[in-house]
Amino acid sequence: MADFSLNDDQLQIQKWVHDFAENVIRPAGHEWDEREEFPYPIVQQAAEIGLYGWEFLMNTFSDPTGLTLPVCIEELFWGDAGIGMAIMGSALAAAGISGNGTPEQVMEWVPQCYGDAKDIKLGAFCVSEPDAGSDVSSLRTRAVYDEANDEWVLNGTKAWITNGGIADVHVVVAAVDPELKGRGQASFIVPPGTKGLSQGQKYLKHGIKASHTAEVVLDDVRIPGSCLLGGKEKLDAKLARARERGSSGEKQPAMATFEATRPSVGAQALGIARAAYEYALEYAKERKAFGKPIIQHQAIAFKLANMATEIDASRLLIWRAAWLARNGGFKNGEGSMSKYKASEVAVRVTEDAIQILGGYGYTREYPVERWHRDAKIHTIFEGTSEIQQLVIARAISGMRIE
Ligand SMILES: Cc1cc2nc3c(=O)[nH]c(=O)nc-3n(C[C@H](O)[C@H](O)[C@H](O)COP(=O)(O)OP(=O)(O)OC[C@H]3O[C@@H](n4cnc5c(N)ncnc54)[C@H](O)[C@@H]3O)c2cc1C
Repeated sequence: MADFSLNDDQLQIQKWVHDFAENVIRPAGHEWDEREEFPYPIVQQAAEIGLYGWEFLMNTFSDPTGLTLPVCIEELFWGDAGIGMAIMGSALAAAGISGNGTPEQVMEWVPQCYGDAKDIKLGAFCVSEPDAGSDVSSLRTRAVYDEANDEWVLNGTKAWITNGGIADVHVVVAAVDPELKGRGQASFIVPPGTKGLSQGQKYLKHGIKASHTAEVVLDDVRIPGSCLLGGKEKLDAKLARARERGSSGEKQPAMATFEATRPSVGAQALGIARAAYEYALEYAKERKAFGKPIIQHQAIAFKLANMATEIDASRLLIWRAAWLARNGGFKNGEGSMSKYKASEVAVRVTEDAIQILGGYGYTREYPVERWHRDAKIHTIFEGTSEIQQLVIARAISGMRIE
């Protein structure tokens, strides 16, 4: 049975992350948004206190209630989403390794996605391609096995990759047998400094500008056989089953990773929404129009009431999904519900916050316009809102819906 009261450890860690978000991240948000560069000094500071690091991530992954991670992420993104994403970006690579790798591979590669406080490293999870975003079964990046040298050779182009090209460890999902679509794919580690991997264009974005997003070009990238996550024997068995039945019934490696991380992405959106709501609430108590604080005009008060309600509803869905992910798994698309709801709420709440701040809200002197831009990505990456609706519709109906 789920119990959503946070224990003492969780309350302590929540306060610890909140303090860092309030004192370090929030004051730096505007500057790094304007610079549109990866905020190395801030990530470095996060590493120094142990907030950016594989031990922190593994501790939150091992929490049996599942709540510690979304609680921490909400606080981080409450501080600033671009910087929050810079701190959390490597976690997607770590999740890709943990979800598909052997215990030995997890121990070898996850720490290399983070480095240490003296020398921070980054990880990137490379799935999307110019012609395959939502439709991950159509990946064109190929992985071919060179048996004589026990090496895999990767070729292709990945698009919109967080930390792409600047990461030390790239986790790449590629087609081994394209005819099997998603069932013929596998995940690979491209170790630091591997020849043939390069950064393509860096994208200039609408929001989360402090997070680095770029193309990753793979040109005859040769990696040792041991870099196939899960190992060759497991892959061969999976491919054989898929060829026999047309479908192995196993999840695509990318989808399995994204499913597990959905409550976390919802928590990112929730942090932004809460920041905007709190800011708008305080502003509405101070700002006067027609002789009284604007919160005493019902139109504004009701907007704030709706914002508070929707934020709480999002948090409950996120915490339920995070709890289920550790306690029995999703049954009716609960992970997708949480990401879908929280990201749509974040877009609406941040827009309402701009409305409440009026002209000031539309200027870059106030943070709410940035939060609105930052919120929007959450309805797009790690499965668009439409794809979340598809997952939920399939789960509740048990039917094929295209
Ligand atoms: C800032 C940023 C960071 C990112 N980071 C990463 C990363 O680290 N790693 C990574 O692999 N990818 C990353 N992505 C890529 C992201 O996951 C994709 O952009 C996303 O999955 C959508 O794919 P797409 O852009 O190709 O859109 P498309 O799939 O072309 O979709 C376009 C529109 O069609 C709709 N649509 C598509 N199929 C259906 C359907 N069956 N039913 C209904 N509607 C449908 C979509 O919902 C959307 O509205 C990132 C993207 C951005 C912008």
